[in-house]
Amino acid sequence: MTNQGRRGSKRARSSAGGAFARFELRHELNQAIEAAGYEEPRPIQSKGIPPAMQGRDVLGLAQTGTGKTAAFVLPALHHLLVDRHPALRVLVVTPTRELATQVHGEFERLGQFTPLKSTVIFGGVPASKQIRALRQKPDVVVACPGRLLDLANQGEIKLKDIEILVLDEADHMFDMGFLPDVRRILKLLPKERQNLLFSATMAKEIRRLADDVLYKPAVIELANARPAETIDHVLVPTPEPGKQAILEELLDGDDFRSAIVFTRTKHRARRLAKKLDAAGYKAIALQGNMSQGQRVRALAGFKDGTFDVMVATDIAARGLDIEDVSHVINFDVPTTPDAYTHRIGRTGRSERSGLAYTLVTGADDKQVRDIEKRLGSPIERVRMGARGGPATGGRPAAESGGGRRPSSRRGGGPRRGAGRGRPAPEAGRDDRPAAPKKAAGPSFGAGLDRSDRPDRPAPTGSSRRGGGRRRRSRGRGRR
Ligand code: AMP
Repeated sequence: MTNQGRRGSKRARSSAGGAFARFELRHELNQAIEAAGYEEPRPIQSKGIPPAMQGRDVLGLAQTGTGKTAAFVLPALHHLLVDRHPALRVLVVTPTRELATQVHGEFERLGQFTPLKSTVIFGGVPASKQIRALRQKPDVVVACPGRLLDLANQGEIKLKDIEILVLDEADHMFDMGFLPDVRRILKLLPKERQNLLFSATMAKEIRRLADDVLYKPAVIELANARPAETIDHVLVPTPEPGKQAILEELLDGDDFRSAIVFTRTKHRARRLAKKLDAAGYKAIALQGNMSQGQRVRALAGFKDGTFDVMVATDIAARGLDIEDVSHVINFDVPTTPDAYTHRIGRTGRSERSGLAYTLVTGADDKQVRDIEKRLGSPIERVRMGARGGPATGGRPAAESGGGRRPSSRRGGGPRRGAGRGRPAPEAGRDDRPAAPKKAAGPSFGAGLDRSDRPDRPAPTGSSRRGGGRRRRSRGRGRR
């Protein structure tokens, strides 16, 4: 957080952060809230900020996309400012580097008018830069467990002054096998401290962790810990070779702004991104075999609109906060309802509407049944084929509609989401990018990121192909 001085603090004091004024946050924070354009507190913020500011432990049942980050960043910064002394006093532990980077970014954004310093540490990159940053005595560290423990063991990070601990996306930490590391970290912390624990779901292991860590917590449960109500779910039955043509049809739809396309394996993600690129789409892969630098560049390119299609394995579903993703397309059906919930959480964020398409073959019946059970009702089927021709094979449509444009669903509305669940484990631990870490419970890990079978050639029925390449333009907003 660079100190941009007290410029404008008078104005901030008078407007006092608009609807955020009721929290009585420090004026530097209200100024940053205004600069960030946050007008109304989100429900998790309205409910979570007051007890956190009183120093109480908080258990927040909320997933990324609800505004939970500011719900802990603001009270933490306020606490640091009220009784300022230089020491590492706030520790946030997150399951992935992407989430750690986002949380650190929120500290920087909301702390931009303060002299407080935050730094981020995670594995998969050399430690030297992180060690240098730690020597600058940050007030806040946002860390993934593996690298944090390494640096603690090397004596590069001292946790004895931690006053606030945030465990973010605790359910993902469990899924990714991090709970033993988290418990090791807990032993390095002072006993007297405030604890804020966030999780989208409450598996029994998380409940146990919460019981161990939290003292009389304020429990904040949001209705929208479930898949966003703003998401329309659609199943598109298709034989395997028809998938790419359907995908291209979706990407050419009028309602398309940007999409995350999920494949089951890294290999398929890489291949599909290449094929889409060759077909004229601005597509990039994001998968666990890529180096940290490649992943950062891919994400940045997707966020700034250089690419409008990101083909990803489930690693991309971990806590990514990308504004205005209009479509999540499951090119391969997720193997558990949890993975489905998590993937589609990449759209319909921040109260925007989103579309979740799942391409299903006849072999996916069981997964589809499980997903529908989780959602609580059947998902509407829409038949699509190469440019309007009805698909053959696959699961029969629940209603007619061959060749109907999927965008017509939005008005007519397939059921909106319900149910929530724990996302499944995936490949990208902070420092072990490709190895799936199995945990108890339903798993996506076994089938994940295998280079399982060669993709069969996609049909060439796309009318756009005949019409030459088309580079799409769009107006997706930046964060
Ligand atoms: P999070 O769930 O913390 O990842 O937040 C999701 C998105 O909502 C982020 O882009 C935040 O910058 C944004 N956000 C958080 N709080 C607010 C708010 N009160 N008003 C508008 N946007 C917000």
